Amino acid sequence: MAGSVVQSSRSRDLDKLLLRPGNLIGANFEPGSQLRDDLQQYVKVLVIGAGGLGCELLKDLALSGFRNLEVIDMDRIEVTNLNRQFLFRLEDVGKPKAEVAAKRVMERVSGVNILPHFCRIEDKEIEFYNDFHIIALGLDSIEARSYINSVACSFLEYDSDDNPLEETIKPMVDGGTEGFKGHARVILPGVTPCFECTIWLFPPQVKFPLCTLAETPRTAAHCIEYAHLIKWDEVHSGKAFDPDDSEHMKWVYSEALKRAELFGIPGVTYSLTQGVVKNIIPAIASTNAIISAACALETLKIVSGCSKTLSNYLTYNGAEGLHTKVTEFVKDKDCLVCGPGVLIELDSSITLQKFIDLLEDYPKLLLSKASVTHRGKNLYMQAPPVLEEMTRSNLGVPLFDLMGKVLKDVVHVTGVASKNDKKTSCLRKLRVAFKGVDGVTDMDTASGA
Ligand SMILES: [Zn+2]
Repeated sequence: MAGSVVQSSRSRDLDKLLLRPGNLIGANFEPGSQLRDDLQQYVKVLVIGAGGLGCELLKDLALSGFRNLEVIDMDRIEVTNLNRQFLFRLEDVGKPKAEVAAKRVMERVSGVNILPHFCRIEDKEIEFYNDFHIIALGLDSIEARSYINSVACSFLEYDSDDNPLEETIKPMVDGGTEGFKGHARVILPGVTPCFECTIWLFPPQVKFPLCTLAETPRTAAHCIEYAHLIKWDEVHSGKAFDPDDSEHMKWVYSEALKRAELFGIPGVTYSLTQGVVKNIIPAIASTNAIISAACALETLKIVSGCSKTLSNYLTYNGAEGLHTKVTEFVKDKDCLVCGPGVLIELDSSITLQKFIDLLEDYPKLLLSKASVTHRGKNLYMQAPPVLEEMTRSNLGVPLFDLMGKVLKDVVHVTGVASKNDKKTSCLRKLRVAFKGVDGVTDMDTASGA
């Protein structure tokens, strides 16, 4: 009896959204208890990251009625996480975040099932991600977001008029926080801008010009970076600076103080020295809570249609007062990731090896160490070694033959792309069209694109 009282009070607020019609509902919304039951029984959500945002997301989603959750995170719990990653205790230090987070939420929220994955996101097969109705991102790195974005967009297919096929859209909800600032966004590949369409939202990290540090310091941070980047090398020739060595940090601090006194600059402290040198922006628990709440609500809205979703990018700033704003960004129609795919015209005699070599210098792609799949079939895999060996003999075979002699089709390529001297793993969708084919008619290619 007590159990059912708890259960009904738990879904009371959810029921207000799911059981009643309204003015703000989505296009296909059908209110009723069936919707709530289906949502609990069938909908699978993947949470990426079990850190500050991930802990909040798991708790919020579990309390919003989602019962089939999985979480993926490669990190282990550290003492410094405990002030905000509230699912973790002192005795958990050293254990995988994903496993402890899943266990804690399951202990507290009855009926929810959370499957943890303690690994890198790149370690999972691409198809693993296709299993979820929606992917919620609680990440702190641009590279990881970019990778997951390309995976989700790779499921997207277009019809012959280049309109996205609705059933191939894999929705994502992305949260991010930095100090008192944060964002929550909805990404519907092919419909709203994907992460890559708006990559310019993340400016490169600000570094101070060395001449400013050496000649005209104006702030405490300038003095600290002078001691860290210039003075350290002058004094300790050849010895690498170790940010985790407190003796090194104290030395930088005392040098920064001397420099600040020389130029009459206030504000150099030991903790600021650590912050500047390690590039630390303090994480604020309440920012995580607010952003995660927005993401969990958007997740519920996308899967149930109980309200129109955010369109499409919410920013939050709690640094001075409280400010939120929603901006509707637009898609980049030439986006390499969420668009219909880069069109590559090939001669039908080109071997798979030649094709892989070609991608390395291909404009816009510059993709090295490529692995190639076609319609879920591995044509060539760089790793693991057992798959490499199994697929190696394909390298000498014409790509046209490997793709079942279709004139035009999509292949997926994973590899390493270089951008601004940085190497990142990525996944690209390519539309391959063959020319110079004799005796093949459109009839033969009905199973193609
Ligand atoms: Zn895009």
